[in-house]
Amino acid sequence: MQTTTDAALTSDGSARTAQGGDAAPAISIRNVTQRYGEQGSANAVLALDNVSLDIARGEFVCLLGPSGCGKSTLLNVVGGLFRPTEGEVLVGGKRVDGAPHPDEIAFVFQESTLFPWYTVIENFRIALKFQNVPKSEWDDRSMAALKAVGMASFANHYPNQLSVGMRQRVNMARGICVKTNILLMDEPFAALDEQTRMVLGEDLSILLAETGKTIVFVTHSLAEAVFLSDRIVVMTARPGRIKTIVNVGEAHPRSPDFMLEPRFSELRNDLYALLRDEIRQAMASQRDPAGA
Ligand code: ADP
Ligand code: MG
Repeated sequence: MQTTTDAALTSDGSARTAQGGDAAPAISIRNVTQRYGEQGSANAVLALDNVSLDIARGEFVCLLGPSGCGKSTLLNVVGGLFRPTEGEVLVGGKRVDGAPHPDEIAFVFQESTLFPWYTVIENFRIALKFQNVPKSEWDDRSMAALKAVGMASFANHYPNQLSVGMRQRVNMARGICVKTNILLMDEPFAALDEQTRMVLGEDLSILLAETGKTIVFVTHSLAEAVFLSDRIVVMTARPGRIKTIVNVGEAHPRSPDFMLEPRFSELRNDLYALLRDEIRQAMASQRDPAGA
């Protein structure tokens, strides 16, 4: 069913209708390897090692893995913030060449990136202008997104008049209102308390079902990963590789009751078992070498 929010927020209907179909993937990550620092030098880091993954249109994919395993690196490569050392990423069949594509891809980061000297709606207008959305659509799109996260009455507030949770709610709405089919979210709820993040997760699940956007989301929370994702990509400790992919197989929007189902706990426990060794390994590699 098309809702008003739906019509206002989606850039074209293809993302939604193509979900689960045999259309080309929205994002195709091919043999991506990322090294930082001079090879052979003491500060050389192999962050990602030969990562390949196809993400379908309208899919919600979560990247889960120990700190430092390359999740942000992978997200940044997909977003075109830089070109990987090896391999390539295709978005809508076109190669992302180390340049941002603001008309196709939006980012939501952990920290709210709202300009403090502009009101909420002014911040949205700037984002929409930057993404070449016609001026006549700015306010409708902004208000639809704010309404969708229950923040419409705060459109004329300044960011510092909002709580941290409200700011992140607005930040998420801004990522959703822009006219992109792809939304990349790097631990967007990390600074929030657990209750707030669960409520925001519910909102996100509803919004996803309405807009049909393709979302790649990084989180450390196992419950959040299970609640939100169609697929969870579990990564190894550095160098980041894909250890396994877990399918959740539950339609969006998801009700909080999903968290009470035995299947939810089973999936969360499976993920914990998969990650435990990787986290121990990551912790061991972060300690000083013996005798240092
Ligand atoms: P995650 O998001 O999974 O915590 P990152 O992608 O941020 O991991 O980092 C992966 C590894 O690459 C880490 O060891 C990190 O220190 C290193 N790294 C990330 N960005 C840079 C950079 N710009 N220069 C050098 N090393 C980096
Ligand atoms: Mg990170």
